[in-house]
Amino acid sequence: MEIGVVGNLEDAVNRSHLFKPDVGTSYPDFLRDESRRTGQADTLSFALDEDDIRHVLAAGLPVTLQGARTGITGGAVPNGGNLLNLTRMSRITGFRYDSALNTFFVTVQPGLPLVDLRKSLKTCHFDTDGWSGDSLEALARYRLSPPCFFPPDPTETSATLGGMVSCNASGACTFHYGATRPYVESLRVILVDGSVLSLRRGCDKADGRAFTLTTDTGRRIKGRLPDYAMPPVKNAAGYFSADDMDLVDLFIGSEGTLGVISEIELRLVPLPACRWAVLAFFPSDAAAVELVMAVRGLPPAERPVAIEYFDRHALALLRKLKDAGGTVPGIPDLPANSHAALYLEYHGEELQVTDAVGAIPARMEAVGASGEAAWIADSERELERFKLFRHAVPETVNRLIDERRKKEPEITKLGTDMAVPDPELKAILEHYRAGLDEAGLEAVMFGHIGNNHIHVNILPRTLQDFERGKDLYLKWARQVLAMGGTVSAEHGIGKFKVALLREMLGDAGIQQMRDVKRVFDPDGLLNCGNLF
Ligand SMILES: Cc1cc2nc3c(=O)[nH]c(=O)nc-3n(C[C@H](O)[C@H](O)[C@H](O)COP(=O)(O)OP(=O)(O)OC[C@H]3O[C@@H](n4cnc5c(N)ncnc54)[C@H](O)[C@@H]3O)c2cc1C
Repeated sequence: MEIGVVGNLEDAVNRSHLFKPDVGTSYPDFLRDESRRTGQADTLSFALDEDDIRHVLAAGLPVTLQGARTGITGGAVPNGGNLLNLTRMSRITGFRYDSALNTFFVTVQPGLPLVDLRKSLKTCHFDTDGWSGDSLEALARYRLSPPCFFPPDPTETSATLGGMVSCNASGACTFHYGATRPYVESLRVILVDGSVLSLRRGCDKADGRAFTLTTDTGRRIKGRLPDYAMPPVKNAAGYFSADDMDLVDLFIGSEGTLGVISEIELRLVPLPACRWAVLAFFPSDAAAVELVMAVRGLPPAERPVAIEYFDRHALALLRKLKDAGGTVPGIPDLPANSHAALYLEYHGEELQVTDAVGAIPARMEAVGASGEAAWIADSERELERFKLFRHAVPETVNRLIDERRKKEPEITKLGTDMAVPDPELKAILEHYRAGLDEAGLEAVMFGHIGNNHIHVNILPRTLQDFERGKDLYLKWARQVLAMGGTVSAEHGIGKFKVALLREMLGDAGIQQMRDVKRVFDPDGLLNCGNLF
């Protein structure tokens, strides 16, 4: 492949952040993400600014966008063409204070890792080089104010903000705080022709389902949003569409298929004074589900911000990890007779949190569990330890699959990401359990039970297991859709779940999405293979 695809030779060589071919040998890690799928690319570029992005787009070839590659649906895995990695655009570029709302906003480049944003907000350390006077003034006010935070928490904190916006990522605390979407105030998006869209919540609106947008070059873009209704659950499947919606929402969750996000303004919220968590163990799934139902029905002040679930197989995995001297320091032995566990996180004023946590043992007794089978995290350090414990499940599953793939390279983890409406929680858990038993498949179940969003990770050993697992997955997806749910609540569709998206939206819905894509990317060059 000619180096001319990223500009002329001297130009590319002179720009140390633009790398030429042979990514397969020099930079193989960039050809894959956490889905463990490996792709191929002709060039790999690391953009430092918007001009670099335009430079790569100007080649007129397919481009795959990448953040930190923590995605698990292959969205950042290239299908040939140019690979554009955004992780070197990782600065916080401004601050804003809105006195009418008494709210702070922070502006970031797309490659900023979530962990770095959190650290800066906590320590108040920012590289303010090049910031405007208004930004510096807002930062000075922030330093004198009670601290704020950005709530979305997709477990893997090395994820970039661009990747999170692109997938509308969420996580445990989404039960209370919602997904990434409501925290995105504005976006700058570079379209495939190099022009820029600046989209601000409350300013750029659809008219019914019709929309018109104007780029920085004065080009007017007209189109029509899909007619489908969004499911009444946490959702990351397909383009967002609603009457009179904010058009920034079309780009959030569009998985890099409409444009390159080059700048994001995020709304911050006050950091709660007190954060505690409880890990509660139960003799059965039924008892754990009863407790979920009970706490979901409580008044907001008594409700946890996160309710996470671990089934008995996930607990067995954690026991094995601990026995093998694994990665959860300071975690005691798990109670031997526990067949399910819940992680409940509480935010609020100290009294409110201590009261809510203090009520947990009695609530456990009420569903037939021992009130003593609960661990409490009452400090930031303990909370982090519990989070490591929670994170250890998907990480261990991924390592296990890597091991199995050495013998059977064709298999992958089959991880579901589906959510159903509240009344269907018990029924869907029963479907999952019965389906696994009937098919004789090994699996762990864990995740965001507060949102009726359980990850079932089928762990195939053989190709036959893999095929049986795929059939079961499709059967479950149809059940979830019949219940009014979604095929992807947070990970997005990427390259793995395209068929499931079609099940969800039908041929007509997919065609309407294609029509939207064509308006912004007529030749289908951006993130080929994602969504469609
Ligand atoms: C152990 C583990 C646990 C996880 N748990 C959760 C969870 O609880 N909730 C959750 O939501 N996710 C979870 N994830 C998935 C992942 O962390 C999120 O999807 C995250 O948002 C991806 O961010 P990233 O920077 O790694 O993006 P990447 O994986 O690099 O890319 C993701 C998608 O975004 C696109 N993209 C990236 N940058 C841009 C840009 N600037 N403009 C346009 N498109 C772009 C890519 O093309 C790709 O389609 C988990 C992952 C792991 C490994």
